Amino acid sequence: MESKRVRITSAIMALMLVMLTLLGCTGNAAQSTDATSSSETTTASTTTTTTTTTTTTTTTTTKKLTTTKKKTTTTVMQEKITSKKYTTTQVYNPDRGAYLESIKGNKKLIAFTFDDGPAPAYTNKLLDNLDRFNARVTFFVVGDRVGKYAETLKRAHNMGNEIGSHAYDHSDLTKLSNAELMKQIEKTNKEVEKVIGVAPGLLRPPYGSYNDKVKAAAGVPVITWCVDTLDWKYKDKKKVCDNIIKNARDGAIVLMHDLYPSTVDGAIMAMDKLQHEGYAFVTVSELAYLKGKTLQPGKVYNSIK
Ligand SMILES: [Zn+2]
Repeated sequence: MESKRVRITSAIMALMLVMLTLLGCTGNAAQSTDATSSSETTTASTTTTTTTTTTTTTTTTTKKLTTTKKKTTTTVMQEKITSKKYTTTQVYNPDRGAYLESIKGNKKLIAFTFDDGPAPAYTNKLLDNLDRFNARVTFFVVGDRVGKYAETLKRAHNMGNEIGSHAYDHSDLTKLSNAELMKQIEKTNKEVEKVIGVAPGLLRPPYGSYNDKVKAAAGVPVITWCVDTLDWKYKDKKKVCDNIIKNARDGAIVLMHDLYPSTVDGAIMAMDKLQHEGYAFVTVSELAYLKGKTLQPGKVYNSIK
């Protein structure tokens, strides 16, 4: 009985000792983290010290949590930027398989590309003329036009033309924050996927402007050009046609905009002439396929030889 009481008493004393030590420790911690609470600690009673200490500890914990949260957001952004995967669903239209086999080895392959659309009146005129040249082209569409001109985009896609992304509102992607950059890419992907069932497999950054961040965010191959028709500047079909003919070569990627009637007329004139020279008109991914090249996400191509 006696020894039991001694044991209980010593246990209580030990517990008190631990509590006192703990109070002392946290009190010191509070002093070192916050000068204001340390002066309060010196003058206040034990109860107040405990309250102050608890408050300070809570603040420290909250601060720590905020820091951790910030770090996590940054990591997610980096992962997002680097972990997107290139979808190969648009490599080429199976309906074109036989035709593509027939032109394999052709040393005059060229990819006509049209940016800034869809623009129904002109895009459709171009589409109306592609079959007579066995031609398919690549459209780099602007995300905020996609919903508005969904029928035109659907038609272009169903015919076996390739649909690439030209960002959401034609912003210079190199001037954006990570979050804004991702938004431009993802919003466009979503818009296009909603209409044709598949996200763009290529990116052409507006103004051909890119940096490492843009390449990482793209998630798909980045396509520029080696022939600039300057169609937007001259708005003259003969000039558009001449610029294409003058610079046409095997593996070339030609830049145009289906926003102008002169561009569409000039492109059709050029196809007519180039076909007689033995050229075949293919999409960017068809060009890569025919050249035996696998385009890499985040890599930049201005031609494919
Ligand atoms: Zn553009």
